[in-house]
Amino acid sequence: SERKIERALISVTDKTGIVEFAQELVEKFGVEIISTGGTARTLEEAGVPVTPIEQFTGYPEMMDGRVKTLHPKVHGALLARRDSEQHMAEAAEHDIKLIDLVCVNLYEFEKTVSDPNVTFEDAIEHIDIGGPSMLRSAAKNNDAVTVICDPADYAPVLEEMSVHCGSTTKVTRRRLAAKVFARTAAYDTAISTWFSSYLELQSRAIDPDDPFEPPALLDLHLTKVQDLRYGENPHQAAAVYQLDGELANLVSSANPLVGAEQIQGKPLSYNNLLDADAAWNAVREFDEPACVILKHQNPCGSAVAADVTTAYDRAFACDPKSAFGGIIAVNREVPLSLVEHFADQNKQFVEVLIAPSYTPEALERLSRRQNLRVLATGGAEGHATLELRSVDGGVLVQCVDTVEEDPSEFTCPTIRKPTDKEMRDLVFAWNVVKTVKSNAILVAKDQAGIGMGPGQPNRVDSALLACERAEDACERMGVEASGFVAASDAFFPFRDNVDVLAEHGVTAIIQPGGSVRDDESIKACDDHDIAMIFTGTRHFRH
Ligand code: 5GP
Repeated sequence: SERKIERALISVTDKTGIVEFAQELVEKFGVEIISTGGTARTLEEAGVPVTPIEQFTGYPEMMDGRVKTLHPKVHGALLARRDSEQHMAEAAEHDIKLIDLVCVNLYEFEKTVSDPNVTFEDAIEHIDIGGPSMLRSAAKNNDAVTVICDPADYAPVLEEMSVHCGSTTKVTRRRLAAKVFARTAAYDTAISTWFSSYLELQSRAIDPDDPFEPPALLDLHLTKVQDLRYGENPHQAAAVYQLDGELANLVSSANPLVGAEQIQGKPLSYNNLLDADAAWNAVREFDEPACVILKHQNPCGSAVAADVTTAYDRAFACDPKSAFGGIIAVNREVPLSLVEHFADQNKQFVEVLIAPSYTPEALERLSRRQNLRVLATGGAEGHATLELRSVDGGVLVQCVDTVEEDPSEFTCPTIRKPTDKEMRDLVFAWNVVKTVKSNAILVAKDQAGIGMGPGQPNRVDSALLACERAEDACERMGVEASGFVAASDAFFPFRDNVDVLAEHGVTAIIQPGGSVRDDESIKACDDHDIAMIFTGTRHFRH
């Protein structure tokens, strides 16, 4: 009682065995073959008579083959229920000729994306749309249609047809349909796996021109350049080493800390070196005259101004208490006025002063404080490429966090947009916050980092700390605690951060964005009339 297979649609990328299969369908069983462009050519060249798909549908293959078989004359022919009078009447009304067998294998997506140099466009073009559609239509209608997605099934199907007078059995059709759904599921999984890993690679935002790829072998040749009195604590022996060979260039900027001229002062300690490095890297974030005062790895004062002495004054004013015993880094030549301000006016105890150079008058005045360590780097150019850190049993290597960010590419998802003044303060705060230990919040006012919340294991506590310090700073300076902007080194996981910042007078926020709950933070900003900027880039510093 099974219907004889009269018409077959063949559309295959892998043409293995297709000629023999089609030949036997035609010669032994008198089947009419419909076929798409490349497949039709292969069959015709082998002398197998075929009806081109465009003749069958009345439409040309179009859009570079994106649309070949996506047509009611094909899908109606596959999906029509043969036992439904209504379906058969509709098929007849629209001149749809039934297709009893579909033989399709798909564009080689998996093979295409296995090439590590595949382009996004090439991968997308290898997503087969018409093929899976036909396979699924035919597999759904397994009651009547035989569907083949694997050349290994050609022989068994022909075999069954010869036993069953040119038809297949229901059992076989169901088995073939099940195989099809497994195949299309695997195909879609391959697409989604590739797509999400592509997006993840994109979100890594690694500069494609960056020459650094962690190599299989890093030849670490270290030469001791200096014994240190001790390490972080007096019972820890320590020394400074320099790297030899090619790595030496990769871990050094043009004007590095190790290698800077020490003009005067006691020998640098282990902690001096660590903090001076952090301060020196922080102050070089700025093109304009800038000063960073750093303590215990965090910038407790930071400011930019028209000249470095003013920048120093404003950095010191951020938190004079913390500045005591700190490291001062500036990115311009140190004039006498700067030395007078910290030594005479503020009587600031300073561990290390680091700058590109010093005027003779400044040096003369500094020489009266013989213990003060004074470092001249010769310039403030560039940055290292790599940084190395040891963990128990291994060494971690990464590119330093020096991504170029263009504020014109930042986005603003809130109703209120930042004013020009807010935007300048936001960009300033963004440059400073990346040098604060994570979780980091920095509150800035008038181009100075007056409140810092470093290293708390939850961001709300960092925000609270930063706000309280900013309020203290304003009280000390005798100015109103308002006009604050805040920077966050990573996204806000909840709206509570925004609520805390709003409560303490923050009117604009800069942060990477990218949380699944960004909407809540945006809503919180809109509730408080805060302008928020998304940078798209995170700056963790652990
Ligand atoms: P041919 O070599 O015959 O030109 O193309 C065969 C391939 O085209 C098969 O892998 C089949 O899955 C695919 N195919 C058939 N119809 C369509 C369609 O309408 N759109 C797309 N993108 N691919 C199709």
